[in-house]
Amino acid sequence: MDNSPAGRLRADDRLAHLITELQGRGLRVEVPLESRQGGAGPADAGMLWIDGFAATVPTGADYARTSPYVLRAEDEGWAVYRDGERLASAQPARRPRYYDLATAAGVPYWQIALLHLDSVASTVNQTCAYWGNADQCTFCGIGVTLANGRTIARKTPEMLAEVAVAARDLDGAVDATLTTGTTATPDKGALYVGRCGQAVREASGLPVEVQFEPPRDPAVIDRVADMGIASVGIHVESFDPAVLARVAPAKARTGIEGYFRAWERAVAAFGAGQVSTYVILGMGEDPDLIVAGCRRAIDIGVYPFVVPLRPTVGSLMEELPAPSPEYCETIYRRVVPYLRERGIGAHTAAAGCARCQACSGMSLLEEKSDADGRTFLPLVSHG
Ligand code: SF4
Repeated sequence: MDNSPAGRLRADDRLAHLITELQGRGLRVEVPLESRQGGAGPADAGMLWIDGFAATVPTGADYARTSPYVLRAEDEGWAVYRDGERLASAQPARRPRYYDLATAAGVPYWQIALLHLDSVASTVNQTCAYWGNADQCTFCGIGVTLANGRTIARKTPEMLAEVAVAARDLDGAVDATLTTGTTATPDKGALYVGRCGQAVREASGLPVEVQFEPPRDPAVIDRVADMGIASVGIHVESFDPAVLARVAPAKARTGIEGYFRAWERAVAAFGAGQVSTYVILGMGEDPDLIVAGCRRAIDIGVYPFVVPLRPTVGSLMEELPAPSPEYCETIYRRVVPYLRERGIGAHTAAAGCARCQACSGMSLLEEKSDADGRTFLPLVSHG
């Protein structure tokens, strides 16, 4: 094995490219894989470690069933193959032990919070004021999981605290990620998800990220910070205003400037690098607007978590093709060096999606530096 710095870089390049490929083309599975179906935001993913790196990759969508990549059993363990060639070892996430437990009232723990690799995650309020009307975000599957009985409509702070302790003790959860559907209240649901996070934090000691829409009164953001929450996700989803208007009309009414105002307040309250936004690729956006928006967000201390669209079964975009891995890698390569210059990245986020990074190939590029600490990014390969 070539363990020289140059050798390690080559291995990392290959892995960054492979994970980006898998997230774009999906993975055929010949093994039962823990996965997430539906849920708020861009969902639908199997969870596994590839050569030791956490990754979520589409496994349930139609396009994943025709992927050139397949997860296959070996004599010992599993590996990712393409055209008969072994590309990397893989460790499918096993079923968490805490899934076998239930509350005293008989609610199974897995209906309260799921384990996303090493983060215990829940949508605390599984309904959204926009779901089922003209404001529904077209990429979102929040109503799907509720309709198919995989979760309950509202989790209480007490339930979440109980499950988080079990996830920490039985399955090694290192943080908690709590999101919510938007409520028809001025705080948009921020205070309730904040209270849930506070209960999780106090019971388990785990750092918590909460996610919500920009509240009407920005002081709500300070109140959430005062609850002991470590990180916050306020998700604009796209920096292309035309795309935002088409895919998320309610978010478009807040406007990209409205998100920047909320982020500025959040960075003041939580600190640079503790505020993040999802940026979804593959919805017809102008790439230059995406890169410019990401850089402006980075300038004020916001981490833009750039991810490929995962057309979720049951969402309004379920028929859309996923963006090409080459396109995603090109955008990552334009954003990551800027992140590094600003000194923020996955390593600065205390909790949540930006800390976990399994849904994007970005962090694998962030980690690249040569012996002088300069950023090293791979060329896009079309192999
Ligand atoms: S605001 Fe949009 S993405 Fe969030 S839960 Fe509601 S419909 Fe889904």
